[in-house]
Amino acid sequence: MGEGQVMAQIQLSEREVEHLRNDLSGSVITPDDAAYDEARKVWNGDIDRNPRVIAFCADTKDVQTALAFGRRSGLQIAVRSGGHSLAGHSVVDDGLVIDLRRLNQVTVDPQARRAVVGGGAIWSEVDGATVPHGLAVTGGHVTHTGVAALVLGGGVGHLMRGFGLSSDNLISAELVTADGQLREASATKNDDLFWAIRGGGGNFGIATKLEFQLHPLGETVFGGLIFYAPEQGPDLMRLYNKFAKTTPDQVTTILAYLAAPPAPFVPEQYHFKPGYAVVVVSPDHVVGEAAVKPLREFGPPLFEMLAPMPYPVVQSLFDEALAPGTKVYWKSHYFAEYSEDVIAAIQANTAKMPAGPSQMINLQLGGAVARVPEDATAFAGRSAGFLGMFSGIWEEAGDRDAAVAWSRGFSDALAPLSLGGTYPNLAGQESEERLIKSYGREKYAKLARIKTKYDPDNVFRLNQNIVPAR
Ligand SMILES: Cc1cc2nc3c(=O)[nH]c(=O)nc-3n(C[C@H](O)[C@H](O)[C@H](O)COP(=O)(O)OP(=O)(O)OC[C@H]3O[C@@H](n4cnc5c(N)ncnc54)[C@H](O)[C@@H]3O)c2cc1C
Repeated sequence: MGEGQVMAQIQLSEREVEHLRNDLSGSVITPDDAAYDEARKVWNGDIDRNPRVIAFCADTKDVQTALAFGRRSGLQIAVRSGGHSLAGHSVVDDGLVIDLRRLNQVTVDPQARRAVVGGGAIWSEVDGATVPHGLAVTGGHVTHTGVAALVLGGGVGHLMRGFGLSSDNLISAELVTADGQLREASATKNDDLFWAIRGGGGNFGIATKLEFQLHPLGETVFGGLIFYAPEQGPDLMRLYNKFAKTTPDQVTTILAYLAAPPAPFVPEQYHFKPGYAVVVVSPDHVVGEAAVKPLREFGPPLFEMLAPMPYPVVQSLFDEALAPGTKVYWKSHYFAEYSEDVIAAIQANTAKMPAGPSQMINLQLGGAVARVPEDATAFAGRSAGFLGMFSGIWEEAGDRDAAVAWSRGFSDALAPLSLGGTYPNLAGQESEERLIKSYGREKYAKLARIKTKYDPDNVFRLNQNIVPAR
């Protein structure tokens, strides 16, 4: 019997729902409401689930009330902020969704260079509040992703090699834990919880507030992309492998394989044609220009769009290609370098990419990410060179199978050449075995002990689940 069927047996009276409605400052949506279908939508358009109750929380007290209702009723609980979980962890059939989207306040203290961010905010709301003060913190690569879940999982982004992971800049957080208590986590309060929430995901409680250290950022950053033909791939990857080993920390790059968009900066003959792109972001223009010289000289590239641009523009380069509603199947691996075997596997599999919006996106790690000791936080993968992601994306239902098969085939080919684990935030539904590989046995065991302390009943299990220690 499937999970959904078990949940369907739970009896929930109209009166109980009515009580919840009365107890919340926010609102409650059920299948009878006109807003239901919009409210249950998540980013991945391949996920179509029907929760019994969606509780839109307006404040921390609402979160506690909704959690208590969920625990009392026995409904399975999904927590939702940005809704970008690739596996659809933030919505659940027949269960309760605790929706935090209204907890999206962001306040900035420019003198102290700090920001306090609500547990349901998205990255455009953070950038919108910090950038006018000439300040920023590492965010995700698209602006509509939620802040809390991204940070709790680690947080990789365009500024990470200079400023560290998003979670490396977390000073403190407030969480409603499984027992309903509001707890602070910081270096001085509940330090075990603070360690766990910087990489361990949403396993330990519902984050209602996050405090970040900010960094000065000029009005513009140097950024954009250089695009190469598919047949240039092997030589480009050989060059890029050396390039990545010597890139200054201020420069963070991505090597991608994707179809060129029909954008004004793309010559018309390349619209929708696939190829390799190197995406570059550097807060320091001079350092950025100097770093990309070998990439500009190689090839020649088919076209480039590299220029000083406001940080929010760089941040939103992928927004449209990965818009809400994108139907995707996603696999990923950490790998050390572009060895000849890795290059051959990538070239063989990019050649098989179905026409359309599918993508390979490989993030360059290192820099400030690698300088934080591995055991300082729960995040795992600091010593990896790259994170490779193979996103099968389709628009028409008939193209789903080909996109899924391509992503799986790519992942299978890279698996024996990879480091054996991945970054759980940028992965599909991972098994416990794969999570143990990703975190390492020792770190996973520590996470499981902390999980047992704060969530012994595994209330928060719709996530990349750390199972309480048995
Ligand atoms: C288009 C796209 C781009 C992405 N880019 C990046 C990137 O650049 N860098 C990166 O690191 N990751 C990236 N990710 C992955 C991203 O970090 C995860 O998908 C993350 O879960 C998104 O957060 P969310 O709030 O949108 O997720 P949701 O789907 O709302 O939640 C995801 C998980 O976190 C839990 N959760 C949600 N809110 C809270 C909360 N306040 N407290 C506790 N638990 C909570 C949920 O229960 C669920 O298990 C990307 C994902 C997508 C789809």
